[in-house]
Amino acid sequence: MNPEALGVGRTVEIDTTGGPGFGFEHFKDLDFLKDHEVVLTFDDGPWPENTPGVLKALADQCTTGIFFIIGKHATYYPEILKQVYNAGHTVGTHTWSHAALTNKKLTEDQRKEEIELGISAVKWALGGNSPAPFFRFPALQHPPEMVTYLGTRNIGIFSCDLDSFDFKARNAQAVIDVTFKKLDKLGKGIILMHDFHKHTAEALPELLRRLKAGGYKVVAMRAKAPVQSLPQYDEQLGKIAKLPTVSQRPVSSVVTTVSE
Ligand SMILES: [Zn+2]
Repeated sequence: MNPEALGVGRTVEIDTTGGPGFGFEHFKDLDFLKDHEVVLTFDDGPWPENTPGVLKALADQCTTGIFFIIGKHATYYPEILKQVYNAGHTVGTHTWSHAALTNKKLTEDQRKEEIELGISAVKWALGGNSPAPFFRFPALQHPPEMVTYLGTRNIGIFSCDLDSFDFKARNAQAVIDVTFKKLDKLGKGIILMHDFHKHTAEALPELLRRLKAGGYKVVAMRAKAPVQSLPQYDEQLGKIAKLPTVSQRPVSSVVTTVSE
């Protein structure tokens, strides 16, 4: 343990019954953070190099975050997602393909499918371990009927209090500058970042050091119970062509000739 590490100031358990919303950019009901408390959130992974970079920075500071996973990316890189999960971070979901759910061309069934396949894919990639019932809409676009749907599924909805705009940043320093400009004004909040992006992974060691230096404390958000995926979508996921299996074992360790 590094005594100088940022660490975790407080762990909260969330009961997502009825689909509560978090993050003052859209949901004002639940003001649970105290002054100088932050929640670190990372979207759009898992992704090679950048997600492991974020994991290392968090581990070096003995701290934690919530990862909102894209289902397709989970099927590409299940081993990286397992690293996130095994490191003890909270894993939520962020749709199957990052489709904007406000797109009028999508039917209601297609919107539900985006949400549900994302959950089924993350569960599959984690070898059957279910993620938290924590969901973030792509681009923070909240179609009212899907907000209602998530309520019926008892899934919590995460907006944010401050957006680092890391996806627009031209370098790591810009991620740090935007984040602290907003954070020092608000004094606390759920911070939106992307482990998918290189500049975020590069910025995180310094960003975490500055949180510590500024007297900020990280709050870990855990779910009271995991989300229940729906069998029809688990089945649909299994039918998607070319889904790799989770097993990374070489063929020789799986198939042995016992008689010839
Ligand atoms: Zn996203």
